[in-house]
Amino acid sequence: MRRFLWLALFLLAALAWAGAANEREELPGYSGDGARAEIEWEGRFKAIPDPARLRADDQRLSAQPHHVGSPYDQENAEWILSQFREWGWDAHIENYYVLFPTPKERVLEMVEPAKFIARLEEPPVAVDPTSGQQSEQLPTYNAYSIDGDVTAPLVYVNYGVPADYDQLERLGISVRGAIVIARYGRSWRGIKPKVAAEHGAVGCLIYSDPRDDGYFEGDVFPKGAWRPLEGVQRGSVMDMTLYSGDPLTPGVAATRDAQRLPLGEVKVLTRIPTLPISYGDAEPLLAALRGPVAPESWRGALGIPYHIGPGAAKVHLKVTFNWDLKPLYDVIARLPGSTDADQWILRGNHHDAWVNGAEDPSSGQAALLEEARALGELRKQGWTPKRTIIYCAWDGEEPGLLGSTEWAEQHAGELQKHAAVYINSDSNGRGYLEWGGSHTLEKFINGVARDVTDPEKNLSVWERLRLREISEASTTEQRKDLRGRSELKIAALGSGSDYTPFLQHLGIASLNLGYGGEDGGGIYHSIYDDFYWYTHFSDTDFVYGRTLAQTAGTAVMRLADADLLPFDFTALSEAVRGYANELEKLAANEREEIVERNREIEEGLFGATADPRQRLVPPPPEPVPPHLNFAPLEDAVDALSRSARDYEKALKKAARDRGGADPASLGTVNRMLIESEQKLLSAQGLPHRPWYRHELYAPGSYTGYGVKTIPAVREAIEQKQWQQADEQIAVVAKTLNQEAAWIDQAARELEQAIGR
Ligand SMILES: [Zn+2]
Repeated sequence: MRRFLWLALFLLAALAWAGAANEREELPGYSGDGARAEIEWEGRFKAIPDPARLRADDQRLSAQPHHVGSPYDQENAEWILSQFREWGWDAHIENYYVLFPTPKERVLEMVEPAKFIARLEEPPVAVDPTSGQQSEQLPTYNAYSIDGDVTAPLVYVNYGVPADYDQLERLGISVRGAIVIARYGRSWRGIKPKVAAEHGAVGCLIYSDPRDDGYFEGDVFPKGAWRPLEGVQRGSVMDMTLYSGDPLTPGVAATRDAQRLPLGEVKVLTRIPTLPISYGDAEPLLAALRGPVAPESWRGALGIPYHIGPGAAKVHLKVTFNWDLKPLYDVIARLPGSTDADQWILRGNHHDAWVNGAEDPSSGQAALLEEARALGELRKQGWTPKRTIIYCAWDGEEPGLLGSTEWAEQHAGELQKHAAVYINSDSNGRGYLEWGGSHTLEKFINGVARDVTDPEKNLSVWERLRLREISEASTTEQRKDLRGRSELKIAALGSGSDYTPFLQHLGIASLNLGYGGEDGGGIYHSIYDDFYWYTHFSDTDFVYGRTLAQTAGTAVMRLADADLLPFDFTALSEAVRGYANELEKLAANEREEIVERNREIEEGLFGATADPRQRLVPPPPEPVPPHLNFAPLEDAVDALSRSARDYEKALKKAARDRGGADPASLGTVNRMLIESEQKLLSAQGLPHRPWYRHELYAPGSYTGYGVKTIPAVREAIEQKQWQQADEQIAVVAKTLNQEAAWIDQAARELEQAIGR
């Protein structure tokens, strides 16, 4: 019996040892002892974030409306500052002065065929205490619409994306001189007035259709989570695809004495007056439209036949704004590093909201605060990060990533030298891990996700996501791939939150993290995004808030403590190869389609198949595009793959010979890794928008938040700019070769460091 026990103990010890060996494998950038210590500290960290505190913080942050320039926005920033200081962080506030228009006049009325005056107001709900704070609420509007006063026939344009205008052309309908009404969805809202103006419209209304955001999805608030009859989605319509941040100070910080563009020279304002409305206000306008019945895919869930117009509805739209400068309050807090203090790990979430914002952004801000409290706690227990950790609570995200962009522009030089990684979050909810970022961090963040447990299922958030991806895969091939791969793919980032200036302007490797997918979202940017809604319909017990804090906080610690920054270039080269293949297919498809359509025009197909009682305009013939030369891109992708393999080889060697590797000798490699994402920037920036410099990721010029990968080439093909596509293939290839050479050198440095 006794001997048996000893044997059992021996086996347990052996298993534990094997387990530790496995952990070492899974913590790239750490020595064996370092990995064990790290896992121990991370375990202590993950036990600290507390749903009760998340709940209290969310309630506190969302207690009153706190948009840019409001008293409670400043009060929140000062409270966040005091929290950081209480937890032992070195914290301060940085101010900027930005253009933030607020409504002076808003009028929307139908003048023909019947009189109707739009309400343009969200009524308070009796059970929801903060919905009645009307004197502090911003009216419903789209920020950075120009002033305007127009009366014109109304035309329904579906989602108002470029393809919808192609369809209108086929139907023989022009929006020239008209006011368009588009529904929210399919593109970022700022794209809708932009495309409308390009087609000659004089005004733009954007409404939430119940098909996408209302009773078609479920019960409406306050009975359910979905958008009620008079709920309105506020939001910015600044053309953020040109640059983010203060419209008056592109590329430089909006300090008090900064040089500012005169308003008339600002390119990111809309060209036509724009106003968001509820489906309650939209229905009488849409019901009055005549003209052809909208195609099936254009119809929403209102109880009316959807007509396109023009006729008989004529509307009057008037909006004017106070074009004021408002102060921003960015809270910046620092935990100094020990051995590598000049290498920084950044973490941020915004604190400003459109109204009360219990979900957007307070749910994410509360998680960030719990991480900061926990890290402060660990420091009191003796933990010291190698690298400096900087936590940022941004102001002015909602109008256009103002606080993060101005700070990034002000500190550009030091950030490009010192900032290794920026980790962002925003709204948080119940459900699955949602992640995106630089592919150099794909392997790293997979490792973190494997070590965080889903609060509602007894498995890691990584495993839960993997199983869902298998369940959603449409082919056997995809399922096989998912079961075979050791890392899940992360999404590429477009825009829509504060990572943009870091990743796409400065070239700092970035991640965006959050949870969601299991709660309905009908209160986005309305007065109903508040504590009552959040605690009835979202992460009601704040356990996913804790999970976000555990995920982002673990990532911060693991990056801050590693001997060698855990960058990996294999996932990067695989992602780039995938994008390059997509581009070749895209160009080939574009060509084939044009050839086929030209043939159909010649055959008289469109005239023969059109219903003679309906108007249908055949498309015009188009010149057949030339073949593009993808060879330089293919060669560069091959070079990148080879470099990634070499770096991986050096890494494996370093892991094997770790006994001989001195962490101090890794300084050069770490510094090279910090700059590795910057080698993916092009000096001249993207065509027509030089503020965006990343050659792999950018928000689409005609999708907004939606990402365009290898944007310079992809958008040239989509917009049929064949010569530009050819030129940009060469630019991208040059950038990738520059990255490959940098990785080669980092691999050599790493090998030398092991030898030392
Ligand atoms: Zn947000």
